[in-house]
Amino acid sequence: MSSEQAMGKLKTLAGAEAQDALLARQSAGMIKRYVFPKDTVLFGKGETRQCAYLIDKGEVSIIGNDEGGEDKLLCIIGEGELFGEMALVDNTPRTATAVTNSECEIFVIPRDSLYERVKGLDPIVSLLISILIERYRITRIHLPESVKQDKAGDFINKLSKHERMPEDVLRLRNTEEQRDLALKEMKMEQELRAALEQRQFFPHLQPILNLAERRITGFEALIRWQHPEKGLVFPDHFIPVAERTGVVQHLDRLMLEKACELLPVLQEKAGDQKLFISVNLSGINFETYDVVNSVRRTIMDSGVDPSQIKLEITESALIADPDQAEKVLLGLKALGLHIALDDFGTGYSSLGYLHKFSIDDLKIDRSFVMQLHDGSRSIDIVRAIVALAKNFKLNVVAEGIEKEEDIAALIGLDCDMGQGYFFSKPVPVDGALDFIESNLKKG
Ligand code: C2E
Ligand code: CA
Ligand code: CA
Repeated sequence: MSSEQAMGKLKTLAGAEAQDALLARQSAGMIKRYVFPKDTVLFGKGETRQCAYLIDKGEVSIIGNDEGGEDKLLCIIGEGELFGEMALVDNTPRTATAVTNSECEIFVIPRDSLYERVKGLDPIVSLLISILIERYRITRIHLPESVKQDKAGDFINKLSKHERMPEDVLRLRNTEEQRDLALKEMKMEQELRAALEQRQFFPHLQPILNLAERRITGFEALIRWQHPEKGLVFPDHFIPVAERTGVVQHLDRLMLEKACELLPVLQEKAGDQKLFISVNLSGINFETYDVVNSVRRTIMDSGVDPSQIKLEITESALIADPDQAEKVLLGLKALGLHIALDDFGTGYSSLGYLHKFSIDDLKIDRSFVMQLHDGSRSIDIVRAIVALAKNFKLNVVAEGIEKEEDIAALIGLDCDMGQGYFFSKPVPVDGALDFIESNLKKG
């Protein structure tokens, strides 16, 4: 479209209802995809900003002013491009008009949806984004001389009602809560790094049994933090921060080293009953191939039989970048290790990918096992998961067995192995050795 054509269109559309405010209302804080006919004015110069736009299909003209104040075609933008994005930051008037050149398919991103997304971010990123946006807004508002000297925090109150941003725009300000969360996160990261140096992490071991024979087959190593003031800290309190900060890779490597150290001790106690030990491997490790080399070194240095080591990974590790995950998994399998898919059923459970990856065991999440007898659909879900796993020749491990009756039900569903408080909670090494002894005596 030529500049003249665009101008002509603008003139014919002058006075037509702009879509921006309407779309913001319709979308109610959610990103939505709309089809717009040719010649739709998405937003007009001088209107308050409400939404940003991302073009999926079609073209849009952006029309502003030349030096003489006349309308001027600034650019034509196409698929994959974002425009009108300043609406995400503040609601000062638009400086240009956007008109569709053809039928367009466009994602409309209202300002509210940004708030929701920022809240869901890593607390430090969330705080930083909020502060940057707030500072930007402050510099954009024309400040009377009298308040320019004030502290930034005070000046908004001094603005007349007219000059103030509406409440919804101010919601993104870095609140106390956001600041506290970010501070907590930063402190925790420092603490985790110090604790690693001071060797405050160690594993507890939870036995995994063959259900039909009730015989011990191995242990899962679960990380614990012996905190000098707080005492024993469980992983749910620190693994999420460790994952966001990359510390988890050090923790996972440490647990693998400890597992390799413990395996011969446990195996000696178990005699001819061959045991495995499994460790959890966070999905972050799958971002590069380095983990394969690091695992190889640990296994070689310790001299353990790699077939006695299992790595537990979750579906999310595979889904993020399936090709990369496959490469890493093949590398790990080539070392002779076994792979278990952890927490199965809670994530994406896109069953189609199971055949693609080299997996040996499937661990059914404890939420299903714990509801086996409450009349819910859990029993059907477990039955379906077991059938699927058997189809792919995988072993099935049930987590969270707390009651005797769960065992019979799981055996009936053809589940091979299980772990849970019914057999034993995760325990220190001595407890694990006692468990082996009493379990093998019974057999
Ligand atoms: P997970 O891998 O699913 O581990 C099983 C969790 O279920 C453990 O919690 C275990 O204590 C608990 N559990 C076992 N049997 C039962 C039962 O019968 N009933 C109930 N209610 N719970 C049971 P834990 O030790 O607190 O670990 C929580 C999560 O932290 C683990 O879930 C795993 O995702 C993560 N985690 C633990 N150690 C590591 C580690 O070394 N590296 C990484 N990346 N994550 C770890
Ligand atoms: Ca696990
Ligand atoms: Ca699990």
